[in-house]
Amino acid sequence: MVDWAEETDVLVVGSGAGGACGAYTAAREGLSVTLVEASEYFGGTTAYSGGGGVWFPTNAVLKRAGDDDTIEDALEYYHAVVGDRTPQELQDAYVRGGAPLIDYLETDDDLAFMPYPWPDYFGKAPKARAGGRHIVPTPLPIADDPELNESVRGPLGRERNGEALPDMLIGGRALIGRFLIALRKYPNVQLHRNTPLEELVVEDGAVVGAIVSNGDERRAIRARKGVVLAAGGFDQNDEMRSKYGVPGAARDSMGPWSNLGKAHQAGIAVGSDVDLMGEAWWSPGLTHPDGRSAFALCFTGGIFVDQDGKRFTNEYAPYDRLGREVIDRMESGDMTLPFWMIYDDSRGPVPPVGATNVPLSETEEYVEKGLWKTADTLAGLAEQIGVPAAALEATVARFNELVVKGVDEDFGRGDEPYDLAFTGGGSALVPIEKGPFHAAQFGISDLGTKGGLKTDTVGRVLDTEGTPIAGLYAAGNTMAAPSGTVYPGGGNPIGTSALFAHLAVKDAATR
Ligand SMILES: Cc1cc2nc3c(=O)[nH]c(=O)nc-3n(C[C@H](O)[C@H](O)[C@H](O)COP(=O)(O)OP(=O)(O)OC[C@H]3O[C@@H](n4cnc5c(N)ncnc54)[C@H](O)[C@@H]3O)c2cc1C
Repeated sequence: MVDWAEETDVLVVGSGAGGACGAYTAAREGLSVTLVEASEYFGGTTAYSGGGGVWFPTNAVLKRAGDDDTIEDALEYYHAVVGDRTPQELQDAYVRGGAPLIDYLETDDDLAFMPYPWPDYFGKAPKARAGGRHIVPTPLPIADDPELNESVRGPLGRERNGEALPDMLIGGRALIGRFLIALRKYPNVQLHRNTPLEELVVEDGAVVGAIVSNGDERRAIRARKGVVLAAGGFDQNDEMRSKYGVPGAARDSMGPWSNLGKAHQAGIAVGSDVDLMGEAWWSPGLTHPDGRSAFALCFTGGIFVDQDGKRFTNEYAPYDRLGREVIDRMESGDMTLPFWMIYDDSRGPVPPVGATNVPLSETEEYVEKGLWKTADTLAGLAEQIGVPAAALEATVARFNELVVKGVDEDFGRGDEPYDLAFTGGGSALVPIEKGPFHAAQFGISDLGTKGGLKTDTVGRVLDTEGTPIAGLYAAGNTMAAPSGTVYPGGGNPIGTSALFAHLAVKDAATR
C-alpha cells in the first residue's frame, strides 16, 4: 500500500523543454499537474541553449516569413538522413507534429517565436533547406521579475564563470521563462524544485505515480492520468555512460549536474525497452581553463589537426557530424584526444570560434593551463603541441594551396550551406599565414545523451514486447530519439522534447 502524499492528474518529471511544455499542455487541457525538477533551477540543458530553437517544418512562424517548404519535402529530408534506424512512424510523428504544436502554443500571448534561419545539417541530402526549418523563442525582458530570472537555469556564463545574471531571457531561457509565465494563468499547477524522481509506482501493470525525494524526505505522488518522464539524458552519469558505451565524459557534457539518468533507470525498472543508449548529440569541445571541453560552433578560420599533425575533417561541418567524425576515428584507432585548432595571428591569439557557448576566460588563463599555444613558426608550434613539425608544415601548406584554389579538394569545406553560414559571405577557406601561429586544444563534448526509453508516436513508453506501459510516457533525451544516430538540423533536441511531452499529455488526458 502506498501512502500518497499528493495527487495530481499528470506528474511531469523534469523542467527542460519537455517538462515545461508537458506541464503547460496539461494545465491548458484543464488537468491538474505536478512538475518535479531534480535541481535547484528550472530549465535543464534547454536553458543553456543560446538559441532555444526548434526544428519544426512548415510551422506558422516560418510560413508568415514566406517559407515555401512542404511536409512532404521535410519528410523526404528527415527519412533520407535518419534512414531506417528508428521506426518511420516515429519519424513522421516528429516531422508532422511540430507545426500543429506551434499553432497550439501561439494562441497563448505568453508564448512567442520568431524565425531564425539555420541551414539543415545535411546540405546535400534531398530536400535539405539552406534556410532551415528552425524558429526560436522571442527574447523576454524580465527586469521586473527577478524571482523568475533567478529560478531559470543558466546562462552558462553565470554558472561556469560567475558572470552577472542578464535581465533579458534569451534562447532556451526565454523558452522556459515563457512557459513558466504562461503556467501562472492556470490553477492546479504545482512546481517543485530540488525534488528528483526516485522510482515509479506500478499497480496492476500500470504506472500510477512515483516516489520523489526532497532532501531526506521521500514522498509518493499519485498521477491519475500519467507520468511523463522528460528528465533529459544521463549525460552526467559516468557509470551509465560507460555501461552503455557513450564516448566522452560527464565533465565534458553540457547537461546540468542533475541529468543523472534516474528517470531512465526508473523506466527500465518497470520493464521499459531502451534504444540508442550509446548515442548523444555530439560536438567538438573547446577546452576551457576549468579542464572541461565545451560545445563550440560557428568556426570562422583555422584547421583541426590530429596527433600526427594532419588535417582530418571539414572543420566547418555541423557540430554533430564533426563530433561523430572524431569519435569514429578514435574508435578505429586513428586518433587520440586532444586535437588542436591551428590558426594564425590575423585576428590575434583567440581561436576563431564564433560561438563558444561557455564564454571565454582571459587568454592568459588558457595559456597558463597549456591549452592555447603560440610560436613564431609552425615548426615551433608543432613542438609545443607534440606533433611532427614537417607534417604540420605540410598540412598548413596544403591547406593554403586549397585556399588559393578556392576549393577544399580534401574535405569539402564550403560545399554545404551550413559551412558558409558564419563566413559573413566570404570563403570558407581562410589562409593560415600570418605569424605568430596559434593552437587551441579541443576535446569531444556533447549536448546530452539521446538514447532512452522506447516510445510510440504519442510518447507512450513501450515494454520489451513493444506494448505500451499504461500510464508511462517519455520525451526528449529521456526517450530513444526519433532521429537515431544523426542530428538532422538545429532544433531537433528541443523540438523532440517539447513535442513528445505535448503529445504524451494529450494522450494521457484521454485516459
Ligand atoms: C549551448 C547549447 C545550445 C543548444 N542549442 C540547442 C538549440 O538551439 N536547439 C536544440 O534543439 N537543442 C539545442 N541544444 C541541445 C538541447 O538543449 C538539449 O539536448 C535539450 O534541451 C534536452 O532537452 P530535455 O527536455 O530532454 O532535457 P533537459 O533540458 O536537460 O531537461 C531535463 C531536466 O530534468 C531534470 N531531471 C533529471 N533527472 C531528474 C529526476 N530524476 N527527477 C526530476 N527531474 C530530473 C534535470 O535537472 C533537467 O532540469 C543546445 C545545447 C547546448 C548546451
